[in-house]
Amino acid sequence: MTVPTPLIAGNWKMNGSRAALEEARLVAAAVGDVRPRVAICPPATLIAPMRQVLAGSPVLTGAQDCHWEASGAFTGDISSELLAEAGAQMVILGHSERRAGHFETDELVAKKVLAALRAGLEPIICVGETLDQRQSGEALQVVTTQVRGSLPAGLSGKAFVLAYEPVWAIGTGLTPTIGEIEEMHRAIRTSLGDVLGEDASRPPILYGGSVKPSNAREILSAAEVAGALVGGASLKSADFLGIICAL
Ligand code: PEP
Repeated sequence: MTVPTPLIAGNWKMNGSRAALEEARLVAAAVGDVRPRVAICPPATLIAPMRQVLAGSPVLTGAQDCHWEASGAFTGDISSELLAEAGAQMVILGHSERRAGHFETDELVAKKVLAALRAGLEPIICVGETLDQRQSGEALQVVTTQVRGSLPAGLSGKAFVLAYEPVWAIGTGLTPTIGEIEEMHRAIRTSLGDVLGEDASRPPILYGGSVKPSNAREILSAAEVAGALVGGASLKSADFLGIICAL
């Protein structure tokens, strides 16, 4: 059985500017050789300068989405190849804001995962239930269905990350109980077994949703939680470092 390597990834969403790269520089200067891997995923326009700012540090640069085709008539979209050329090393896929706001389905996410791997990007695949689904007792079924549907065939042996992000916890200050997080992470690991067989113990499963320095230690010490996907608290270096140091 392989123990997953933890990751703390920051999702800047449609926030930040060139001036905000200073926050990334401060993170890179402070992390040194810390145990978790660390990544920052800025808006696409900041990927190239972010990679430059992070040069020489172990902090990885990530993107927030990619198209599934390598090139073509897809106005406004960006392929995984173009993101890799700009300096991205990872890519967030299937974030709930894309599933809800851009009608992304599990099938589409699975195609994007293949595209990411084709370009040498490590996918961070997001899953999570809505509040209605949690309250009606469907959370486990919804999320494990998303996991099976969002993972393409042929993933065995490939580096990728899963992120469990309850939609109702994103940007709200609400978080599930530690018991609920552990229950979901165990169910996700079991679903990974259905898809990957013996390889199922390798991918880290992150928790995401209102992680901040004050709750990070408790969440990150939950069983099966191998890191965090962090939105709002990744925008300020002091907060992000507080989470990184909690692992
Ligand atoms: C996210 O959008 O992935 C996220 C976890 O956001 P926040 O940390 O702000 O809840």
